[in-house]
Parts: sequence; C-alpha cells; structure tokens
Amino acid sequence: MTRIEKLQAELSKRDLDAVVLFSESNVRYAGQFAFTDGAVAVARDRALLLTDSRYIEAAQAEARDVEVRLADAKHPLTAQLRDFLSGCKRIAAEEQRLPYADWKRLEEKLETALLPGDEVLSALRAVKDPEEIAALTAAQRIAEQALEEVLPFLRPGVKERDIAAELTYRMMRLGGEGNSFDPITITGANTSKPHGVPGEAVVRPGDFVTMDFGTLVGGYHSDMTRTVAVGYATDEMRRVYDTVLRAQLAGIERMRAGTTGAEVHQAADELITAAGYGGFFGHGFGHSVGLEIHEGPSASPRNTQPLPDGAVVTAEPGIYLPGAFGVRIEDMIHVTAAGPVNLTAAPKELMIL
Ligand code: ZN
Ligand code: ZN
Repeated sequence: MTRIEKLQAELSKRDLDAVVLFSESNVRYAGQFAFTDGAVAVARDRALLLTDSRYIEAAQAEARDVEVRLADAKHPLTAQLRDFLSGCKRIAAEEQRLPYADWKRLEEKLETALLPGDEVLSALRAVKDPEEIAALTAAQRIAEQALEEVLPFLRPGVKERDIAAELTYRMMRLGGEGNSFDPITITGANTSKPHGVPGEAVVRPGDFVTMDFGTLVGGYHSDMTRTVAVGYATDEMRRVYDTVLRAQLAGIERMRAGTTGAEVHQAADELITAAGYGGFFGHGFGHSVGLEIHEGPSASPRNTQPLPDGAVVTAEPGIYLPGAFGVRIEDMIHVTAAGPVNLTAAPKELMIL
C-alpha cells in the first residue's frame, strides 16, 4: 500500500471524504516531499499537492502518488482546493495545527464546516514503515559517530557551548541534515536542569556532562542522551547513574506493542522511587520521534493507550538533584509485537573520561 492509499483507507475508516493538510510535517508525510508553503489534499480516490514556484520543479520530480499543481496569483491555492474537493462533504483539516483564522477562511471558501482530522495522520505517523526506520537509524548512527569523535574533546576547561558546536559540526560533516533540536550540552550543577541551555560554564574535574542531541536524515529526527563523568565520579554519582540505567532498562523491557505508555513510564518510575529518588524524575519516560522531534504516542503517565506495533519511542528516564547534578540516558526504541528493538548502538555503562 502506498502512503496515500493508507491515508485513503484511514479516511474511509473514519467516515471522511477528504483531508486537507498544511503543516510542514504532515504535507511531507503525505506527499513524501519537503516544502514549507502549500497544501496536500487527499480524497478517497485522488490526491493533490499544491505548491508555489519555489518548489514546483522539485515537487514534480520528487513527490510520490499525488498530482502536483502550481498555486500562484492566477490560480490561487484555495480556489484549486475548492475545485479538487467538489463533491466531498465530510472534509477534515488539522485542528491542532491550522491557525483559527485560516480554518475559518477555508470553511468560507469550501462552504462547509471542517471536521477534526489530526488523528487521521497521527494514527499513521505513529507506525513507522521500514523506510522510516532506516532513516531514523541512519540519523542515529551519525549522532553516535559524532559523539565518539567528541568524547576526546571533553576535558576540564572546555565550555558547554563548544561541546554543542563540536557535535553540530561533526554531525553535519557526517551527512546529517542539521540538528534535530538545539543540543543540550551541560556540565556540573547545570546537569540538574533537564533542558538546561549550554552557556559559558566550563567542565571541571568530577563533573557529570550531559549531552542530549540528534540530527536528521531524510527529515527524520534522531534523539539520544549520554551522561559521562570527567576525571572521577563520587559514590553518589555512581549510585544515581546506576539507578537511571536500571530504570531505563526496566522501561525498555516493557516497550512492546500492546503495553500502554503509562505502564512503560511506571516501570522506570517505580525503580527510581524504590532506590530513594522518588520525586526527582519529573518528566515522561519517552516520546515518539519521526518527522518531528516530539510526536505521539508517548511513554508517559498521560498515555493510557497501548503502544502500536511499529512505533519508535525514546527511553529517557533521568534523576535530577537540584544544585548538585543530574543524569539522563536516552535511546530510541522500535516498539514491535515481538519486543523492543533498540535503534541506539552507543554504549551506556558509566564512562569516566
Ligand atoms: Zn533527547
Ligand atoms: Zn527525547
């Protein structure tokens, strides 16, 4: 089945005649072509990609299974959408992504009330096909290689910002399409802030350094975190590291199709609490990754739905002791009916540089 055919099957399952997409990740997913302005409309028996002169040539060459047409002043996008959707009654759009003003304008143009359509896409995007798994894995391999190259650089006196710069530079040199998000490269007491911003602080002996970073291949985001010690690690640092690692392994063990996101989170949370660090793991165990760095479904207490066969979800528990230090370890896991497949190959025993 092509992606468009899968979307069409989803439309009929949800009793919809068509869905209109504008957001960058959804148009890319549906048309299998990256562009920032335009739309993809999918009806039960046809699909249309509309874009402007900046993208039209590439779109005609690269987009798959959709008709590609130019939208310009003479042939406005909304007028073409109206023609394409004539005969469609139940039309959905992206209720969480399309600005309210655009939603209302589109309703006026199509002379119909739009229906919520986000789930049409999120249901499909949650389950990665082999091509998507290959892209995610390729991005992850680049990140791992960059980390290996940067480890010798982690010495006392090195600035947080410079660690971010080194990782970014190396990932791009290795074929990555940029950062999948601004790298978090923090040291010492800053590591107790899960999303700390790298600044002028320098690595000191006895510091933990946390590096959370990733790159993209074919638009697919990788995401990994490693925490390493520089010089030496105290007993408490070792205890916390060991607890986070065991919590991560306990969560990963539960990451199979059919287990709820909440159950995965709970497995890690219970272990952390039993070790005496209850209350110091404040965020969710993991999130899906794909064309966006944070997607659904998540492995968090909020997600009481079973994880689908084929999801790719991060496993990233942490313990953060304010004013002292924090540890997070993050891998990307392919959730299957047969069990978890770890897409991350980098070692994670405590490393003391
Ligand atoms: Zn991360
Ligand atoms: Zn993450």
